Amino acid sequence: MSIAIYPGSFDPMTNGHLDIATRAAKLFDKLIIGVYENPNKPILFSTEERAELIRQAVAHLPNVEVQSFGRLTVDFAKKVKAKAMVRGLRMSADFEREFDMAMMTKKLYPELEFVCLMSRVEYQFLSSSLLKEAASLGGDIDDLVPKPVASALKKKFQSQA
Ligand code: ADP
Repeated sequence: MSIAIYPGSFDPMTNGHLDIATRAAKLFDKLIIGVYENPNKPILFSTEERAELIRQAVAHLPNVEVQSFGRLTVDFAKKVKAKAMVRGLRMSADFEREFDMAMMTKKLYPELEFVCLMSRVEYQFLSSSLLKEAASLGGDIDDLVPKPVASALKKKFQSQA
């Protein structure tokens, strides 16, 4: 069985992430979305909240699972017996970062293939950080995120207001 991981912060999941997951799920028998427990940046949603929102968003994809992990990504890949790691590439800033990550991953775990899928045009400029900024200022973000995420963002910012 071919297994791939799709790791990330997903704080929160956007339609850009969901599109990558949906397409990757067609390439492998099983796709495991891995939620970093401690991303290297400030987070709005707890690990459990982020994982649960993804679970709701991918409920219609039978071969997609969600797990959180706190260890090195390659160790997570080994644990779940993944042969590939999927990442999404937007036009501008992602390439260098993803390239460096691919090189490091190859060094640490040569058997793991690094698979980058290009973001669809409509999601090229969509990032979780911009989304949170827009949502915090009352912007309409409904078209950019799965439904449960839109509700969770509204709740979060209402409770902080
Ligand atoms: P990380 O902290 O690992 O960058 P993110 O949640 O920001 O976690 O992103 C996870 C993966 O999804 C990364 O490969 C990122 O490039 C990709 N990604 C983020 N936003 C989009 C988008 N709008 N379209 C396609 N891929 C995306």
